[in-house]
Parts: sequence; C-alpha cells; structure tokens
Amino acid sequence: MPAPRRSLLILGSVLTLALITLLSGPRRQPSANAPDALGGLLAIDDYSLGEILEGAGPAIERFPPGALPAAPQVAAQEPLPAPVEGSPVDFRHYPSPEEIRDFLQDLAAAHPDLVTVQTIGHSWQGRPIDAVRLTNARAPQPIADRPVILIDAQHHARELVSAQVALYNVWRLVDGYGKDPVATRILDTRVVHVIPSVNVDGNALVLADNQNNRKTLSPACCDDDGDGKVDEDPPLSYGYGTDSLSRYTFDQAWADAHPQDPFVDDWRGHVIGQPQALGRFTGALGGERRAIARVDADGDGRIQEDPLGGVDPNRNYDWFWEGGDARIGSDAFRGPAAWSEPEVRTLRDYVAELGTIAASVSYHSGTDLLLHPWAYSESDPLPDEGIYELLGAKGSQLTAVHGFPGTVRTWTARGLYVAMGSSMDYIYAKMGALAFAPETFGDSGITRIERLGATGTYTVGQATGFSFNPRPEGILPVADRWDRWARYLMAASPNIALNALRRDGDALLIAIGSEGVMPIRLRVTLTAADGRRLELAPEGDRVVHAEQLRWRVPLTALGAQGNRLEAEAILASGTRPHRVELARWSFDLDPAGPRLTVGGIEPFTDLSAHFGGWWAGPEWNDPRYRCSKEPCQPQILVTPPPLPTVAAEPTEAPALSPTASPTGAPELVLPLLRAP
Ligand SMILES: [Zn+2]
Repeated sequence: MPAPRRSLLILGSVLTLALITLLSGPRRQPSANAPDALGGLLAIDDYSLGEILEGAGPAIERFPPGALPAAPQVAAQEPLPAPVEGSPVDFRHYPSPEEIRDFLQDLAAAHPDLVTVQTIGHSWQGRPIDAVRLTNARAPQPIADRPVILIDAQHHARELVSAQVALYNVWRLVDGYGKDPVATRILDTRVVHVIPSVNVDGNALVLADNQNNRKTLSPACCDDDGDGKVDEDPPLSYGYGTDSLSRYTFDQAWADAHPQDPFVDDWRGHVIGQPQALGRFTGALGGERRAIARVDADGDGRIQEDPLGGVDPNRNYDWFWEGGDARIGSDAFRGPAAWSEPEVRTLRDYVAELGTIAASVSYHSGTDLLLHPWAYSESDPLPDEGIYELLGAKGSQLTAVHGFPGTVRTWTARGLYVAMGSSMDYIYAKMGALAFAPETFGDSGITRIERLGATGTYTVGQATGFSFNPRPEGILPVADRWDRWARYLMAASPNIALNALRRDGDALLIAIGSEGVMPIRLRVTLTAADGRRLELAPEGDRVVHAEQLRWRVPLTALGAQGNRLEAEAILASGTRPHRVELARWSFDLDPAGPRLTVGGIEPFTDLSAHFGGWWAGPEWNDPRYRCSKEPCQPQILVTPPPLPTVAAEPTEAPALSPTASPTGAPELVLPLLRAP
C-alpha cells in the first residue's frame, strides 16, 4: 500500500511532554502530571498498520455525540473579516504548505502592485519557503529606502496558528488597502515582509501525521537500533486531531466540589495515584474515531526505538547558540552547529538583505505571552528595555479582545524560560531591529472530561494540537487580536514625510514629520546644486518620536535649480543603530517659491488615534501585565515621553501666514552655510 508506506517514512518524532508542561497555562494541565500517560498503551498494540490506517482498529471508548462538555471556546462577539469560505486560506481551517502557497500566489496575482511572492529557500525535504513582500510599488519612494517590518511564523511545526496570524496580517493589509486608512498608509510608506511558515516540512507533517512535532525534519537522528539507518522507526501518528485518553482519580471531596472540571486551581494536590493511560485515537476534530497503535516500522521487533530527528530551529541561530541543548533527542536540540538548518539559513540570508528593518515579529504558540529579548539571559543589560516596555504595554492593551485577557508582556528569560540561539535575540542583537516573539495561543489541550458516575474518576481526552492551537472556529479571534497589535507596531515604525516646503520671506521653511513613535535620530541634509551642504538636526541631536520638525533656511543658501533635500531616519536601537529610512526630494527655487521636481508634500499622518493613542494607559502598568512568573523580576516602570501635538500642515503655502508655527514648536533658524 503505497500511501501508508509513504506516510510511515515521514511519520512522527519523539513525544515530549516536557515542553507542554512549560508552555501550558497554569489553569489545568493533566499532561504535566502524567509522565507516561501517553506511553503505556493498553490493548491496541496488536493491530497491524493496515488495520489501523484503514480505520479497522478497535474503538476503545465510545462517546455518544454531545455526551461530554467541549472545552471552553473564546469567540469574537462580532463576525470578523475573512476571505470567502473555500479560499485556500480562509482562517476556518489549518492549511497545508501548498494551500498557503496558492493563497499567496492568488493574492499576488490579484494585487500585483501590492504583493510580491518569492521563494527564498528550501527546507530539508525540498519544500519551497516563501516570503511575501507587501508595499505599494507605485508609491514614489524607492522600495529599498522604505522602513521594513519583518514578520515570520511557524518556526515550530505544531504551532499551526502562528502561521495563521501571520497570514491574517497579510490578508488584512491587502484587503484593507484603499478602504482602511491604517492599511493604506502602511502599504504606501512601509514594506512588510512576511514568511508565514518557516518550518514548512513541519507544517506538512503535523497536518498529516504527527501533531506533536516541533522541530525541523533534518535527518539528524537516531540510529538507536544500530543498524546504520536513521529515523526508521518513528512513533506512529499523533496525527492532527488525535486524542490521548486517560483516567484521573481525584479524592472524593475534590470531585464532589468540581463535578464538571476538576482541573482547576491546585488540582495536582488532589490526584490519587498515577493517571491511567487508555490509549490514543483520532477524531478530536470530528470524523470517525479509531484507535492508533504504535507500529514496528523497521520490523526489528522493537517499537519506536529509532525516532525521527530534527533540530529546534529556534535554537539554531548564532546568538549564544553554544549554550543550547546538545542532546539530539531533545525537543529543543540546538543542532550539530549554528545555522545547520536550511530553514534557519534561509531566514538569516533573507533578513540580511532587508537593511532598513525597524521591527521584527516572530509568532509562536503554546501559551499566551508577548515576549521580548532577552531569551538567552535573565540579567544581561537590555539596552532598549524602556521602548520594549512601552510597545509591549500597548500589546497587552490591544490583545484584550474577544474574551481574552490582555497578554502578559515579558522579558523572555524572566517570564518564560532561558532560550539560547533564538531568532528574536539574533535579530535584535545583530540586526538592531526591535524584536518580539508573541506566543499567540495556549490551552490545556483537554478536549473532553467525563466523570464516571459519582466517583472521583474522570476520563480525560487530550489532543496535543489543541494545546498549541485553537479549534478551527477559534482561528479568527486569535488572528484578529494579534493583528491589532501587529498593525500598531507597523504604524509605530518610523516614517518620514515632507509636510511643508515653502517660501517664508527671505527664507525657506521646511517641515519634516516622523510619523511613527519608535525612537529615531533624524538627519536632514540640504544640498544646493553647486555642492553647498547644510545639515539640519533636532536641537541637541535628541531622539524623535512621532512629531514634526521645522527649519528655516536663508534662500541665499540655495540655487535656482537642482536643490536636494535628504532625510535619514536612524533607529535609536541600543544594539545596532542603523538606517531605517531614506527620503529624498529635489526642488527648484522659482520666483513664486520652491517647486518640487522629485518627491511630494504630504500632510502629517497621525495613525495613533486608530489605536487609542501610541501608549497604553497607566492601568496597563500593573505587574500582572509585565511578568508571568512569580515572583516578578524587577522591571523598570517607564513613563512615556510626551508627544508633541502636530496640527495638520497645508500643502499649499497661502493657507498659513508665513511665520505661523501651528505646532507651537520652536523653529530652527539657520543663518549660516558651511562651505562646500
Ligand atoms: Zn514556538
């Protein structure tokens, strides 16, 4: 049977519950207390692979429909925008790598001015890794000069919903262009690069056969049986939608007090003995239930002794890589060397070309946290702690929708765990971009709880996939709450616009706005055709946040033709200050005033009103929004810098008196020119 045989070859990997223990929320997590609940199968190991794959295996438990309570679902109060049902990606199902590809290519074909799809590398198994670039190619500023926001997702195979969030970011921007002022402004002025599924092999494997796989499909493991062949007897099928079934017995008083759901509060203290494993079966997503056995794929009489290998791609970056987990079977295996994984090298090489990268978001799932650097250290100095706190606080506020609490923001090593060689640390440390890793969703994975009569014993169904991913009907609310924050971050990225250029008596008035709230240093250079140069900067070379600056320059400093104005935004990053934007204009000086020959004048665009202001209110400074572990590590409380109010600047000179300063901000008068 060709199909099952092929399935076998790519099946499964080492089942590790330790990570679930780490990632699941504190509310309830029976798996954490069931060290071998999934290993000690009863009764079903005797069936052949054929019987099992054909669905002829035994039904080990019978649940009449509706007999058991479903796990609680968080749903949006109102219908959320989504592509038509049946689209390859519709946010109502978890798509395959091919469906994601089709979706992106359809989007590019329908919006050629906004969307470019490119294959930027290949996985271990040769699958294409795609990146989508979103920006309005018809806007005059060269694309390479625009600020960049990078989004990636699904480093970890089983974190399916992370790819959905990234794809939702893509779809909402493109669908909103021309209708939604935020999407329109972002695509006109920034470049958003999205790699929705880094671990494409893992995506395919999780959907087909093994919902628990986390790592790449690198053939790096294991020849436990010493026959010279690796990866030949993987655990059979934790296919997506697969449950494990086990029995937990609680003391009678606890069971009577919590008849519907005993997995609350300090439930572990009330469990009697060890949970009893009943077996595994499919059907968590509906469909016919059938048991799943472990199978001796290599026919050596032993089961699952030669498991799939794989490397944790989010431990494979060259940032304290050497401190990572060197055990080849570990779910967090760092790999044989930094950059050993083609998926990771693909991202590294692509990001290295981006240049003007201001912010980076790498989506994960398994819990609900907004992570920022450092992951590798709890104590090394974090140069941009203040801005991480401010942007993160807004994330806590914006994710409090659809019944979800606002997501806790935290320094990764303090609030989650120490992780070496992560993409987030690498991009922040080496590229200087402000980098975040949102953990977008986490649950216990419990699909069903059934109390046996009035006893203290409960049958518990669990699906690993549901620890990391909402049920399909829950994709949209999760994607939407993170889209709110991602769009904020895009709008917060620096963007320079020329708000005014006009004659003011015997001077030229220049007003330049930096629209995003991320901190930049602004360098403005005015060059006359004969080479005379004037460098303009805010007083004291201070850091600029979402404001407008003005200068007055004597007309005598300029030529009649071919004057050039250039503005450069340098992200004030504590790790690597770097250019995030270059804006250029040219103008002639006619008797009536300056006339632009390159570039245009735009009103200052303040997108903050769409997010309820740039900074979150003081109620979001509560410690519970800043750390997930008790006791909290000390964190600084940040007072946001005041933002200058910027009045709309007309694009035509006559609307204002020549000397008026609508912002009340002091104008810099620059009487002297340097020699060329
Ligand atoms: Zn992850």
